[in-house]
Amino acid sequence: MTARVLVVDDIPANVKLLEAKLGAEYFDVVTAGSGPEALSIIEKEKPDIVLLDVMMPGMDGFEVCRRIKTNPLLSHIPVVMVTALDQVSDRVQGLQAGADDFLTKPVNDIALFARVRSLVRIKTMVDELRLRQATGESMGLVDGGMSVLDEAIARGRILIVEDREQSAQRMAETLGQAHDIEIVPQTVEAVVRAKGGDFDLVISSLSLDKQDGLRFCATLRSLDATRQTPILAIVDEGDLKRLVRALDIGVNDYLMRPVERHELVARVNTQLRRKRFTDKLKHSLQLSLEMAITDQLTGLFNRRYMSRHLGTLIGDSTATGKPVSFLIMDIDYFKQVNDTYGHDVGDEVLREFANRVSANVRGIDLACRYGGEEFVVVMPDTDMNFAYMVAERLRQAVADAPFHISTEPGQLPVTISIGVTCSEGTNDTAEGLLKRADKALYRAKRDGRNRVVADAA
Ligand code: GH3
Ligand code: MG
Ligand code: MG
Repeated sequence: MTARVLVVDDIPANVKLLEAKLGAEYFDVVTAGSGPEALSIIEKEKPDIVLLDVMMPGMDGFEVCRRIKTNPLLSHIPVVMVTALDQVSDRVQGLQAGADDFLTKPVNDIALFARVRSLVRIKTMVDELRLRQATGESMGLVDGGMSVLDEAIARGRILIVEDREQSAQRMAETLGQAHDIEIVPQTVEAVVRAKGGDFDLVISSLSLDKQDGLRFCATLRSLDATRQTPILAIVDEGDLKRLVRALDIGVNDYLMRPVERHELVARVNTQLRRKRFTDKLKHSLQLSLEMAITDQLTGLFNRRYMSRHLGTLIGDSTATGKPVSFLIMDIDYFKQVNDTYGHDVGDEVLREFANRVSANVRGIDLACRYGGEEFVVVMPDTDMNFAYMVAERLRQAVADAPFHISTEPGQLPVTISIGVTCSEGTNDTAEGLLKRADKALYRAKRDGRNRVVADAA
């Protein structure tokens, strides 16, 4: 995996050193000598990760980090603070500024490469989500401007996998005020709990007695139910070998023993905040996908989706010889409803109409809103006789009972006209079929409305 790394340090020798190390591993390295320079390079070069010196004259690393993490366009870029001092207060301040990790000078090579790779891997996933989100935004479907630091830290469900009772208790005490904690000492049981428990975070010791903590983490990463659950690993001090393996497996973050309370809280909060952020991205993506194919007023499929689908079906029916039927419905004198009761009541009628249509077609049939008060039902593997029957049933479902409206007189008689057509030949196209159904509908209107007319062709 290659990635673009931005190295920021006010001392040229430090920059050169990291540049050489990363370059040798085939990372693409860009450099900056100050905070402001770093910010302008980030905007231009869009690095995959930033290695940021803490102590710099003018704007220090914390401030640079904060600016990256509060900018919705940049907040997804992982930031690793590189600090000369290994002070807990520094770490906590950095985490509060949104930093993703820390490296202590002099930088250990293995730790450096493992950290960069693992953060870049996580970023790749978030990038994919952001890309789809951007498509949604450009289509006007979703709101942009989300950033990780905007997420409030909500109460999270945390599973602690630790067989040292004292250590487990201490973590539970530290986190128990703000979150719901469950402690499980056995990895076999922990897998079962993690699969069914809907946890926001798993904290796992990697130095369990007679059990393999790494294998446990790998299992979580391989199961559908837990693949996306963040894991915070607890590593024995200096156990770099296990740590590197853990990061390769896909552990999100780690803490060295002895676990320091403030750092534990800060790292847990970072993971929870990030999880909420990706959950929100996914949710909004789901929403934008639904919005892209459905009509907002009625919940039926929209015209764009229907056109695609009809094309596919006709292609399919040409191959299989199975007929596809198609009907188009138009509400009679609908303009009068708007003119008399207002547009909102018109909308109520459209919604109830859509409900009645949905209730009267089969699961394989595709009901969609074609335009203002025109609706279409596409029926695969359906011949003309059957389609006519469906159309007649729909007409009755509308005409037989008045529609409920929210203003006086409380209800309203509604009728519809329907044109039906069926594709049985091999030369049919979606447009041709639509045109024929439309002609039949026109005849239904002309002949007095509230009726079904089948296309004669
Ligand atoms: P006909 O029987 O010939 O179909 O007469 P009509 O009045 O139904 O036909 P016309 O096409 O003249 O009017 C359709 C009306 O549908 C006009 C338009 O304002 C209304 N309409 C279109 N979309 C919507 C909508 O989303 N909500 C509401 N309330 N009205 C809509
Ligand atoms: Mg009409
Ligand atoms: Mg009309």
